[in-house]
Amino acid sequence: MQLSALVRPAVLTQPTYEPGKPIETVARELGLDPAGILKLASNENPCGPSPRAVAAATRALAQGELYPDGGCYELRHRLAAVLALAPEQFVVGNGSNEIIELLGHVFLGPGDEVVMANPAFVVYKLVTLLFGARAVEVPLRDWRHDLPAMAAAITPRTKLVCVCSPNNPTGTANGAEELLAFVRALPPHVVAVIDEAYADYLENPPDLRPLLAEGRKVIGLRTFSKIHGLAALRIGYGYAGAELAGLLQRVRQPFNVNAIAQAAALGALEDAEFPARCARENRAGLDQLGAAFTRLGLEQVPSVANFILVKVGDGDGVFRALQARGVIVRPVKSYGLPEWIRVTVGSAAQNERLSGELERVLRGRATA
Ligand SMILES: *Cc1c(COP(=O)(O)O)cnc(C)c1O
Repeated sequence: MQLSALVRPAVLTQPTYEPGKPIETVARELGLDPAGILKLASNENPCGPSPRAVAAATRALAQGELYPDGGCYELRHRLAAVLALAPEQFVVGNGSNEIIELLGHVFLGPGDEVVMANPAFVVYKLVTLLFGARAVEVPLRDWRHDLPAMAAAITPRTKLVCVCSPNNPTGTANGAEELLAFVRALPPHVVAVIDEAYADYLENPPDLRPLLAEGRKVIGLRTFSKIHGLAALRIGYGYAGAELAGLLQRVRQPFNVNAIAQAAALGALEDAEFPARCARENRAGLDQLGAAFTRLGLEQVPSVANFILVKVGDGDGVFRALQARGVIVRPVKSYGLPEWIRVTVGSAAQNERLSGELERVLRGRATA
């Protein structure tokens, strides 16, 4: 008997996630010195992590023989204090990506539907398909989630509706009022998943807590990977009503979040000045890159996140040419945007290098 005959059908047709290429991989493939490679492909923080987070993680490493607190007691209590919610309203994951998967475990099976935007963060679709459910994709309107169209796409089979604001890969956000009104108008059989991975970069992010106080079926997803610069450690969380958080706790692995990551997250939360500085520097970087793309005559999507979508013609070709020059960006053909690339905002010097290399690549292609 073929092994494949034993496999769940959803696994055989499951698409795979295409990550931004790690620096070491590109160095190996192209014979380049890793030290000279610049990665602006995965929306990582050019400021690194806070020194407080690094110190806390380093201390935790010395007790590496001990299993972590699977319930993340201290972190949930700290988050509860910061957000003025109850500790029971939090679930911590191995990255907020894990929370998306936990939502699948709790809610999704064959016959269920998940409403999401297209293009939006691809993990909603991957998790939906993995659990044998159907992804109902609603095109963006003016690069933003078309919330009225998403509401209209809800059927009796809809379990989840995912809204990513600011959205990846477009960098656009929906307004707070619009977003809250959308959640309030959802039918009672639908859970709203609001992915706030980039909300820390907004000057006035939407506040989901009134929705929780009203007892709405909504979960906010946050991560330490972006503005806290801890992507390597894999830690993020969801906050929701205590009942929903409890269901997600039930389906997680006993020790899903490692102790180093928990300590680093606690250290990061002690340093409120750090994310504020990163957000300020990011805004300056957005202006810098935006101006450079304008100077190059390139169309771009105005971004409020830590990356910009820019139209370069042959996205894959420009991605490869930049990579050969040691700059890794993200092609977005898999998001249905073959003419665009997504570029993470780096430090001032990194942005300068990117725009210089991009100019040389585009000039070379124009004369080729
Ligand atoms: C980066 C990102 C996340 C965070 O993922 P982690 O698993 O926490 O690293 C979540 N949602 C979106 C849209 C992202 O771009």
